[in-house]
Amino acid sequence: MAFPELHTPMRTIMTPGPVEVDPRVLRAMSTPILGQFDPAFTTIMNEVMEMLRLVFQTKNKWAFPIDGTSRSGNEAILCSIIEPGDKVLVPIFGRFGHLLVEICERYGAEVHTIECSWGEVFDPQVVIKEIKKVSPKITAIVHGETSTGCMQPLKEIGVACRELDVLLVVDAVASIGGTDVKVDEWCIDGLIGGTQKCLSVPSGMAPITYNERIEKIIQSRKKVERGIATEEDRQKVLSHRPIISNYFDLSMLQDYWGPRRLNHHTEATSMIYALREGLRLVLEEGLEKRFARHKIHESALVAGVKAMGLTLFGDQENKLPCVTCIGIPEGIDGEAVRGMLLNEFSIEIASSFGPLHGKIWRIGTMGFSCRKENILFVLASLEAVLLRQGFEVNRGEALQAALDVYVGKTEKVGVGRGSI
Ligand SMILES: *Cc1c(COP(=O)(O)O)cnc(C)c1O
Repeated sequence: MAFPELHTPMRTIMTPGPVEVDPRVLRAMSTPILGQFDPAFTTIMNEVMEMLRLVFQTKNKWAFPIDGTSRSGNEAILCSIIEPGDKVLVPIFGRFGHLLVEICERYGAEVHTIECSWGEVFDPQVVIKEIKKVSPKITAIVHGETSTGCMQPLKEIGVACRELDVLLVVDAVASIGGTDVKVDEWCIDGLIGGTQKCLSVPSGMAPITYNERIEKIIQSRKKVERGIATEEDRQKVLSHRPIISNYFDLSMLQDYWGPRRLNHHTEATSMIYALREGLRLVLEEGLEKRFARHKIHESALVAGVKAMGLTLFGDQENKLPCVTCIGIPEGIDGEAVRGMLLNEFSIEIASSFGPLHGKIWRIGTMGFSCRKENILFVLASLEAVLLRQGFEVNRGEALQAALDVYVGKTEKVGVGRGSI
């Protein structure tokens, strides 16, 4: 047979996504297929919605996944509320801000942007001032910017948007399940999460949630069902243009995920199983404990990287806990280091995009990949590879610094080298 059975190498994946999938999720994916209107399956769909609300920390009626990679969630929410000519403000602090601009422009929005340097976040007051100046219908912003390892504080911006009657749409693809994201408390109207990052589920779905402020717009853009709408409703509806996309039309998706169960697309059964198990894992661990776990491993990684003699990139006050950006030392070929990590140690770390390409490495500590043995392994391997590449690290210091975080400094006392 010219094409042998699939054989993939075992990798330690320490990128900001996709990350290692929890074995329980992989098992759930091999569960037999059910028809999409089978009550056994619609029960599973309802459970997924219920669990999503808990993970999103919201009472929103609507919380369900879009079939497609994470950006499909961004596109679904934005295309369902943007009508041509609508003003959208996008504060950009990294690559995924540009993606939001791209999507908004394709749906005919008049996009206004403000930018800050990559590696920084916005002072919320600067964003609020701009919102007052532009007076947009929507502010769309990234929460955890994977490209720079920074996390934008959102609460003040959310409260201001609500007061000013502006819709706030947030890309929390990289942060959901790894650090606090409080949809209701932060006054977020529409939010997109990711599966292949802190949820430890494969790529291919985008869980979203939105509130009644967004639902109202979606419903008003829906075609009037002949004979049912009142004249007043009809006039209201006629002032709105229909949603261009069929696949991402949230009014149709609502009718499929809601009690009407109207056919739209064929649900991606195995991915729903995967998401259900991923969410079950999050809730079983508990949100607080899960966020604390991500912080501990981040601390160990950061301590190790610094002890090795490397420097961190970006505003550490507003660091995204699940992505650590490291400056590539002068004279070191970042890609050669990544190549050796992959080829000799079977570890994958990431580089970055645009202005940061060749300048930083990014190490993810997300979901199932965020484990002690992975942190220790990546630190040990990085040290070995850097020595090979001619960078004089502080030998042996990285693992000791990480172990100080994990087992405490006192444990070292009295345990002579070689006594174990
Ligand atoms: C990864 C990521 C995306 C895009 O996800 P895809 O699955 O590649 O579509 C969008 N936004 C942020 C913040 C991300 O980290």
